Amino acid sequence: MIQRLFLLLFMTLHAHAEWRVITDFEGGNAEVVKLDQASGTLRIMPALREGRGWPCWWFCKLDGLTPGEEFTLEVEAQTKPFRDKMVLAAAWCQPKHAWISSEGQTWSPSDKGTLSTDKAMVYRIKATASQMRVAWGPPFVPSDADKLLTDIAARLPEAKRFELAKTRGGLPVNGIRIGDENAPHQVWIGSRQHAWEAGGSQVGRGFITWYASDEAKDLRAKTCLHYIPIMDVDNAAIGAGGKEALPRDHNRDWDANSIYPEVAAAQKMIRDIHAKHGLDVFIDLHNPGSDDPVFFFGPFAFERMTGIQQRNYQRWIDLAAANIIEPLKVQPKYRFATYVTSEEERGRMSSGWVRANTGDSTISVTLETGWNSSLMSVGGYGKVGAGLGRSLAAYIEENPRRE
Ligand SMILES: [Zn+2]
Repeated sequence: MIQRLFLLLFMTLHAHAEWRVITDFEGGNAEVVKLDQASGTLRIMPALREGRGWPCWWFCKLDGLTPGEEFTLEVEAQTKPFRDKMVLAAAWCQPKHAWISSEGQTWSPSDKGTLSTDKAMVYRIKATASQMRVAWGPPFVPSDADKLLTDIAARLPEAKRFELAKTRGGLPVNGIRIGDENAPHQVWIGSRQHAWEAGGSQVGRGFITWYASDEAKDLRAKTCLHYIPIMDVDNAAIGAGGKEALPRDHNRDWDANSIYPEVAAAQKMIRDIHAKHGLDVFIDLHNPGSDDPVFFFGPFAFERMTGIQQRNYQRWIDLAAANIIEPLKVQPKYRFATYVTSEEERGRMSSGWVRANTGDSTISVTLETGWNSSLMSVGGYGKVGAGLGRSLAAYIEENPRRE
């Protein structure tokens, strides 16, 4: 008996001594810089996935923790260039809060981190289980997308799952169509053209969950919705940033020579939808800016627009401002992605391509959420998504095709 107790005690101590960092799972990414078992300090940087865009996302499991004890997580910038000679600034991988989970389902923000003198963000975290997950933000990986689509399909008999494409890496890019193909209104909503922008998928989850609810019944009756939770599945699966991938990322791939099968497939479907029924609304969900508010990027030509086009874009932003109010209000005016300076490049962004390939009554915008706030939790992003749904209901209710 005593022997067994000793063994148990030994195993406990041993487990502590074998504090381990695990990254070989979906969405996992961390390069261990230092693991000091004695002080309970782990220092990581986002691992560079060569040619796969910004090294900003990190997500790992820590095993062998002692529940009740605090540990220290330090995050510093990847030092190697991700493209040409470009090294990513540390701020992109250093959110104010690390996001933590003991079971991988619910995520909560840690206490605010502090910057060390050698420019690492330092988070003090209390272990609540022997294995914990820590991440840059609330993760949303391909299996989450799959589960979400399964849930929605089970709730709505009229929903039909489809495979948009197989990625270059051979993984399925899944979507769901809700409503009659020949419905009077047609909508396309997608996210994660930039793999690290997990909040975009969280907004999408909030949206589609609202869309499947009773509140959206009238909207569903007159709309055919296509929804894609993750476009860049290859990079989301390996915890790569995706943004500014080589030779170009998904949101610069919308031309006649797309290199990503899922972009080509989306172009084809959108063209077909528009040719047969007219596309009313295209929305791409992004999550790029640290301290950005919630806002829409509108069409560059907005100020010069006239007629139905002008009316519809204006109605959209007005209705969004009235309906996207939690946890932050959406900005009541469009912003414009003026950092993209050439017409050619603007045309290769999804929203620009859709504008160029659809009609006068179509609106094509991107919804952008900031991430550097404890408000941007799964629930917080979800509220933005529900607000997006209500905006869409109000917009379609007015019939954007009216003269
Ligand atoms: Zn983006």
